Amino acid sequence: MLLSYSLLIGFWFLGAALCASIAITATRTVPRLMAIWRAVPVAKIALTIDDGPSAASAELLDALKTHGVPATFFCIGARLEAAPALAKRALGEGHELCNHTFSHSRRFAVRGEIFAREELLRADALLAALGASHASRRYARAVAGIVSPPVGRAAKSLGMRLVHWTATARDGGPVRVSVGRALKRLRPGLVPGGILVIHDRPGQPAAALIGPLVAEAKARGLSFVTLSELLSDRAA
Ligand SMILES: [Zn+2]
Repeated sequence: MLLSYSLLIGFWFLGAALCASIAITATRTVPRLMAIWRAVPVAKIALTIDDGPSAASAELLDALKTHGVPATFFCIGARLEAAPALAKRALGEGHELCNHTFSHSRRFAVRGEIFAREELLRADALLAALGASHASRRYARAVAGIVSPPVGRAAKSLGMRLVHWTATARDGGPVRVSVGRALKRLRPGLVPGGILVIHDRPGQPAAALIGPLVAEAKARGLSFVTLSELLSDRAA
């Protein structure tokens, strides 16, 4: 008798657990089938452009305007001093200006925290004077993307975030890169949240690259936004 009671209670528990599990599955599944429960993520990417302003900036800004692409310029402070009008034009046309050190020293990563801080601060003062936004001035890129512990500490002490990239055209050197090769190198970055980098440098294909790059991004359902917009979405 006792055994059959225990069996009965056992079955009751099993049955109750089964019903609860079906109910939970149903409450999760039904809304997914019958109602909107999540927005389709908007696929956004950021185009970042390093080392400007330069003699190539005006043509590049023209191409960005033609294709309606907002870009994020990681500017070298010394070049901002030499060509403030180009930086102001970029800001006026909806682009963003971020920090790429003052002198772009090849030894930026190895000269210690104090040097790195001074380089970032000098460039930041110029960006602030030009009217770059607070949001964009939070972002800095190390020279050649090389982040050493002193560079990391310097950026952190200034409340700045170092930004690397998802894909690079590798067009920052003196050897000319073709549009086709640059596109091929950037393709891995054409994914939601991708950060692309090209260079504002005379002799390189940046301006000619914008049209084909926009076409490829569109074909993948991606749209361009500034870096601070892309990163604010990520943080949300
Ligand atoms: Zn650079």
